[in-house]
Amino acid sequence: MSLAANETDLRDLYQDLILDHGKHPRNFHKPDASNREALGHNPLCGDRLMLYLTVDDQDVIRDAAFQGSGCAISVASASMMTEMLKGKTLAETEALFTYMHDSCTGVASSADAIAEDDADRVQALAGVRHYPMRVKCATLPWHTMQAALKNATKASTE
Ligand code: ZN
Repeated sequence: MSLAANETDLRDLYQDLILDHGKHPRNFHKPDASNREALGHNPLCGDRLMLYLTVDDQDVIRDAAFQGSGCAISVASASMMTEMLKGKTLAETEALFTYMHDSCTGVASSADAIAEDDADRVQALAGVRHYPMRVKCATLPWHTMQAALKNATKASTE
């Protein structure tokens, strides 16, 4: 078995995870209450997602959910991101954003500060770097999360 074959297997595995989240998104609803929201728009693809976060007074994200319409990759990314954000502090969230952004743009990034489970999911999403047109689909929910936490109401990939 060559290394190339193993890499292909791994990519297939990642693809399954993204397909599953794209078809059956988690946290896909408008919560009764939230205190940080932003609308993310990717005009290149037409992805338009509304993100709802609940941050408590200890700077911990207690809830994360989203709604809207987008391609399978943007929806999968939002689904996986909202799962990862629950229970994270804002500092942990910032580290995760940086790791995701670097991974998707092909910049070497240390995973030292990232939980192994999260690093695996980010690496699955970062498979889009092989398809440059889709990178903005994968990073849209993450830019939207940054906007929501900075109390901006909108994020655009342009
Ligand atoms: Zn898209």
